[in-house]
Amino acid sequence: MRWLVLLEPRGELTTGSLVALATTARSARLAGAELHALWTGGQAEDVMSRLRGLGIATLHAAPADHIPPLSHEAWLPLLTELVKNLEIELIVGPASALGKSWLAALAARLDAELAQDCIALGTTANGTPLVRKPLYAGKLLADLRLERQPALVTLRPASFQIERSGDALPAIAYHTMKNPNNLRSSIKEVVKVSAGMAELADARIVVSGGRGMGGADHWAVLQELCQELGAALGASRAAVDAGWIHHAHQIGQTGKAVSPDLYIACGISGAVQHLAGMRSAHKVVAINKDPTAEIFQHCDYGIVGDLFEVVPMLIQELKAQRTQAA
Ligand SMILES: Cc1cc2nc3c(=O)[nH]c(=O)nc-3n(C[C@H](O)[C@H](O)[C@H](O)COP(=O)(O)OP(=O)(O)OC[C@H]3O[C@@H](n4cnc5c(N)ncnc54)[C@H](O)[C@@H]3O)c2cc1C
Repeated sequence: MRWLVLLEPRGELTTGSLVALATTARSARLAGAELHALWTGGQAEDVMSRLRGLGIATLHAAPADHIPPLSHEAWLPLLTELVKNLEIELIVGPASALGKSWLAALAARLDAELAQDCIALGTTANGTPLVRKPLYAGKLLADLRLERQPALVTLRPASFQIERSGDALPAIAYHTMKNPNNLRSSIKEVVKVSAGMAELADARIVVSGGRGMGGADHWAVLQELCQELGAALGASRAAVDAGWIHHAHQIGQTGKAVSPDLYIACGISGAVQHLAGMRSAHKVVAINKDPTAEIFQHCDYGIVGDLFEVVPMLIQELKAQRTQAA
């Protein structure tokens, strides 16, 4: 039995890819599956040290600069061939935009089962993959048994512990494309929308603002809190629709799903479509001036107050603690 994890390329190994890898490695150990990983980001050596002790038999990669890292068109034929040749039974990737689109295209090519946006992976006693997937904006958690092979799964980034045993490194297998210059599309430039801030998908802490922010010019206070905490900035759809912040920051059913250690919701009411994107956060703090706001039913710590008073107090306290510790 062989399983494969897709490690997405974004310069370095993303937290989403590491979560997918660590979760799959744990299940593979229990199921006795041979674990493979595919790194599409360039030099295999760049990520080797982070793969130590995870029980990966082989890391598949392409020689440097041979295949463009983000090219769906270039990688898919190779990925399909790899799955068929190695008779891979389970393919896991991060539930990022790239992971979801690549695995959807791969599932179509392989005519295989795909479970997107799962929050847990395990197996039955005989090794059949089991996943947990939120449905209906997170109101229902479905446990699905993926009986057809190969099966494909994308996993949401979540708080996790990497379990390493020993420090063995995987073997490296290099693959080449027959005609790397014959691609119909090419990526000219990658523009980071949230330059200078932590990526939402990778962040251990997310600070989000909603309609309670009251306008496009009032976000400096949340940006400062993000900087103090090393957090990424999120937003509700109301804030995005009002044109106050780019859609890349939207959390929820029609935005991104995040599972950070800490989620701080500021001026967000807690609509079910917003909860769909942050329900699996480990700890939730809500700041809202309406004590009856729905978000207070879904948080670990609730602060009833004006966010423009509460957030500066938090920043001040964090700064004071940093000075004390220095
Ligand atoms: C098909 C569909 C998909 C959707 N997808 C998404 C999605 O992906 N993500 C998403 O977020 N929404 C989504 N929505 C919209 C969702 O239903 C809500 O309308 C939206 O989440 C509300 O955003 P909000 O909480 O910022 O605004 P509101 O519901 O207006 O809440 C604003 C909150 O701010 C509080 N507040 C105001 N001023 C302050 C202050 N100074 N200090 C503290 N608190 C203050 C208020 O008490 C209030 O609770 C979707 C809706 C539909 C129909």
